[in-house]
This record gives sequence, structure tokens and C-alpha cells, in this order.
Amino acid sequence: MPTPIITVKNLVKKYGNFTAVNGISFEVNPGEIFGLLGPNGAGKSTTLEIIETLREKTSGEIWVNGFSIDIAPEAIKKIIGVQLQTAGFYPSLTLTELIELFVGLYQTAIDPFELLQKVNLTDKANAKFKELSGGQKQRFSIATTLINKPIIVFLDEPTTGLDPQARRNLWDLIMKIRDNGTTVIITTHYMDEAEVLCDRVAIIDSGEIIAIDTPNALIDALVASGFEKVKEVKKANLEDVFIHRTGKAWRED
Ligand code: ADP
Repeated sequence: MPTPIITVKNLVKKYGNFTAVNGISFEVNPGEIFGLLGPNGAGKSTTLEIIETLREKTSGEIWVNGFSIDIAPEAIKKIIGVQLQTAGFYPSLTLTELIELFVGLYQTAIDPFELLQKVNLTDKANAKFKELSGGQKQRFSIATTLINKPIIVFLDEPTTGLDPQARRNLWDLIMKIRDNGTTVIITTHYMDEAEVLCDRVAIIDSGEIIAIDTPNALIDALVASGFEKVKEVKKANLEDVFIHRTGKAWRED
């Protein structure tokens, strides 16, 4: 087993008397796409924001690339990329201007054109953020997580609200980021997405991890327990029809 890049031990987060995260432990391996799945209110964002050093924990221990969150939060901040809510971007600045702004904030050096190339947005370099489509906004938001050349990126529901092509384009982008050696932690409500993208997933419910493994192993375990789908599965689904008919080209996504 590789040395984990993130280790979470007995993490607890209480909001007053309410326990949102109830003693969870898990590890993320370097270079994997790790999915945090679970219903709304399960504690996913709380867990992510604590690891991102944006929220205080109640108790527990966390190490990110060997740095303890209690001792070296600043060192952790430098090696992670966090996706901001797209509402946080100044709508009237161009993509190039926004990147230059972030580069200044992070005190790093990166060529805006090269960064936009990574997310296939060079033709929008001089467009204002507000002029982008939903998928383009998400791609740009993922690009901004890469500005400080992080070794881990955190993506919170990056494909919510996108059309099927835009979602698939984002899957390709996220896999490309992983294939370049960056560890990715993602939350999603789309199980088809988790199945395709995630090397491993943890399912969280009511602040506790109820399952953690590769998607395949979790599915196989369910089938081995005697589970059968009520409806016979066809070789394709409606989304396959949609993609087949409308194509998968990059477009106004
Ligand atoms: P998820 O991301 O899985 O939807 P969250 O981590 O956002 O879940 O929230 C977990 C639980 O903690 C929810 O019941 C939510 O209402 C509660 N919660 C989140 N943030 C706060 C807060 N700042 N104060 C009080 N309760 C909160």
C-alpha cells in the first residue's frame, strides 16, 4: 500500500449539541480520485472544509502530505487547490484578468494561456466570466484550483446542473488532472459519475462512514449479498441515447 496523502482519524465536528461528523476515519492514496458520497446533510462539506483548513474541527487528527492540520495548516494550504463557488468570481473581469488576480493572491507564476489550455478555454481568454455557459464556468473554476500547482485538489459537486456533454467533458478533465499526478477529492450526487470517475469512494450517512472501497468492489459485494435489480438492465440507457444522438463535441457547455 502507498503512504496515504491524506489521513483522517476519528474526526468529530459538533455544531452546538448537534454532531455533524461522528468520528470518521479514512485515508486517501496519492494519485487517486477519491469520492465522498452521501445524502444532503451527511457531513461531506464539513469534512472537506476541515481538511481544507477552512473550518475548525471539534476533535480528531488529520495529516495532509505528512503535515498535521494542528501544527502546519499554512503548509497544507500551499499544496492544495480548493474550488471556490462560481458566485465568487467578479463577473465583469475577463478570464485572463481573473487568473492574473489569483496569481497575484497566491504569489505564484503561471501563464494564463497555458492554464486555459488545460481546460480548453483559450478561445474565451478575453471573454467575461458572466458570458460563459454553465459548463465553461465550471471548467474555469476547476482551472483556478490549479493556479498554485497543488498536489491535491478538492472539487465539491463540480458537475451539478450541467448537461450530459458538459458533465462528460468535465469527467475527462478531472481524469486528466489525476493522470498528471494530482490527487482529486470529489463530492457528487451522481452515482454514474462516481462509478466512472472514482478510484475509491466513501459513503457517508449521518456523519459516519458506512462503506469505503472501489465502486466495483462495493457493487460486487451488493450482488453477492443476493441483491437483484427489479427492472432488467438494458445494454444502454436514455443518457446513452442522448449522447449518441447529440454527439460529444466540445461546445457551448
Ligand atoms: P453535506 O455536505 O453532506 O450536505 P454538511 O457538511 O453541509 O453536509 O452538513 C452536515 C450537517 O451539519 C447538516 O445537518 C447541516 O445542517 C449541519 N451544519 C453544517 N454547517 C453548519 C453550521 N455552520 N452550523 C450548524 N449546523 C451546520
